[in-house]
Amino acid sequence: MAFADRAAFFVEDTVAVGAQVALSVPDAQHIAVLRLGLGERVGLRDGVGGTASGTLVRLGRKNALVEVDQATQVAPARPIHLLVPVADRDRMLWLAEKAAELNVTSWRPVLWQRSRSVSPRGDGPTFRSKVRSRMIAALLQSRSAWLPEIFPEATIDRAIAAAPEGNRVVLDASGTPFRGVELAEPVVIAVGPEGGFEAAELAELAAAGFSARSIGASILRFETAAIAGVSVALSMLQSRHSGAKSMADDSENCIFCRIVRGDIPADIVATSAEAVAFRDLDPKAPVHVLVIPKKHIGSLDDSPDPAVLGEVLALATTVARTEGLGGGYRVVFNTGPDGGQTVGHLHAHVLGGRHMAWPPG
Ligand code: 5GP
Ligand code: ZN
Repeated sequence: MAFADRAAFFVEDTVAVGAQVALSVPDAQHIAVLRLGLGERVGLRDGVGGTASGTLVRLGRKNALVEVDQATQVAPARPIHLLVPVADRDRMLWLAEKAAELNVTSWRPVLWQRSRSVSPRGDGPTFRSKVRSRMIAALLQSRSAWLPEIFPEATIDRAIAAAPEGNRVVLDASGTPFRGVELAEPVVIAVGPEGGFEAAELAELAAAGFSARSIGASILRFETAAIAGVSVALSMLQSRHSGAKSMADDSENCIFCRIVRGDIPADIVATSAEAVAFRDLDPKAPVHVLVIPKKHIGSLDDSPDPAVLGEVLALATTVARTEGLGGGYRVVFNTGPDGGQTVGHLHAHVLGGRHMAWPPG
């Protein structure tokens, strides 16, 4: 849905299907610059998970009205709260943009000891609204749905008091390597100022449960450290999720895993080390064989191991040959609801023995 839109705009209120939404004056002017016309599709984001799209139904030099015909609520990303240093303005703005692209949950600047000598430094309400504009632009660019919650800058004491409980991490070159530690949600990542923390600050953070973690061997500038820290945390949280979930409960009740285990019967026509081929229960062609990885993988959308995918395809071609489909055949991976996938275990359909129409329905 979002990708069909020529442009996306930020709206302050959540929108529902059927609503007519007036865009801001600068957005209406931007529409003119993009040469968007009446009837063209645009996307809308409210920054708190609401994504919608609709068509332009009125256009003036300073106004634009969108009639919404699709709206969905996107779940928030993994909770990662960022404590950034009050620092050089431009570099903070750069980091704000990247933090929004990475879907950071919240952003709070902290006035560390060494933040105080920076000039010009990013603080105060005017700067905060600049941060917000940058984040909104980044959100629209990356078509994400959630804007980081932006808190005012705080002293170390206030920042610690307001930080969520959970996995508290302070990025510090003398800490243990960040990668590989057990990480639970929510994650709070504190990043120090240019020049580093004062010893007393590190002690105060440690006393508040922040563990010191390092990234890489060199001293990173604050914005690099923040981006790297968020990326490491994201990848650890993601692997933790997919690893724990798909293996334990998904495969338990999965029809195709049960076929692999031999719990339910199937007409198996071929196997290889990592893949199995069996006849479809409800064939749609004279030859209709399903080829699946033995390991549970939900769909092509779950970034399957290319080696496993290669083996599935190789077994599909073997089946086509042994089933006598010399005149041609079709291999199909239905993926996700719009792709018509009904069984949540990746599978290739090998169809043949009749002429296949194109395009498929
Ligand atoms: P999808 O619609 O997900 O692309 O394809 C799932 C296919 O699995 C369908 O063609 C359906 O007929 C087939 N299927 C569903 N349950 C079973 C089963 O228990 N045994 C076999 N052999 N095929 C099945
Ligand atoms: Zn399965």
